[in-house]
Amino acid sequence: MYQPQTRVSDSAVIGAEALLRWRHPERGLVGPVEFIQVAEDSGLIEPIGQWVLKEACAQLRRWQERGCPPICVAVNISARQLLDPEAFLEYVTRTYTECAVDPRQIELEMTESLLLDHVEANAMMLRRLGQSGVRIAVDDFGTGYSSLSYIKRLPIDSIKTDRSFIRDIETDRDDAEIIRAIIAMAHGLQLRVTAEGVETTRQLGALKELGCDEYQGYLVSEPIDAERFAERFLNNSPVSDTPAKKPATSKVRLASVGGTRTK
Ligand code: C2E
Ligand code: CA
Ligand code: CA
Repeated sequence: MYQPQTRVSDSAVIGAEALLRWRHPERGLVGPVEFIQVAEDSGLIEPIGQWVLKEACAQLRRWQERGCPPICVAVNISARQLLDPEAFLEYVTRTYTECAVDPRQIELEMTESLLLDHVEANAMMLRRLGQSGVRIAVDDFGTGYSSLSYIKRLPIDSIKTDRSFIRDIETDRDDAEIIRAIIAMAHGLQLRVTAEGVETTRQLGALKELGCDEYQGYLVSEPIDAERFAERFLNNSPVSDTPAKKPATSKVRLASVGGTRTK
């Protein structure tokens, strides 16, 4: 499923987060909280994670061939996938190359603890990924480690603030101050900030005031399938036999996804 990532300033949809679902023959759609941990413990997360990346890249390609404007797709990465950094770099590179996707359209979401635990082993690999154009986002920011040293040592593009800070942002001054501080730090380091779990226009209003760059949440949409995503957010009608249109120029611009890389 894909959930739109929207720019705060003008509400343009500039990206999507790929969120895994298991289509179970009897139980229907099963959410990741029910199976990701088992997949991590058993090692299945490696082939699953590779499939998610491949499917996301293949989907980007399909949208492109149908004339949709280019957006960025974010994919969640588990610790286990980084155990062999060379192999990880190799399959990320192979996947976007085989799908003929611009690496700048791919963002890898990694949690603070994952980045910190593997910082030494992965710094070189992440730098090489960064040089290729692939973006790195810190997921669930503010809930993990207090050490921030990894931020200056790794080629990070953006920070996603955890949903728990957004929930009460208009009523809880502490939450608002935490978000304000995260945004100030991130902007000082030339990183973008994405707020997760935005459900109300008042929360969005508070984020606008605080200078947040992008947001994601039920206010815009729940995660939806690729077909509906294209219809609702990429101005694209369902697949037909008509030949692909040339890529449309629209308010969704690849260049707008992210700032200048400084590391
Ligand atoms: P996450 O990366 O923090 O993803 C955000 C979660 O918040 C998603 O839950 C999303 O559906 C939910 N969400 C989005 N907007 C709102 C909102 O406005 N309100 C509320 N209450 N929730 C919102 P989901 O899809 O159940 O995913 C849960 C977690 O499973 C993800 O958390 C991520 O850690 C993991 N996950 C999902 N897909 C993958 C994957 O492909 N690979 C790996 N390794 N982990 C994945
Ligand atoms: Ca995520
Ligand atoms: Ca998150």
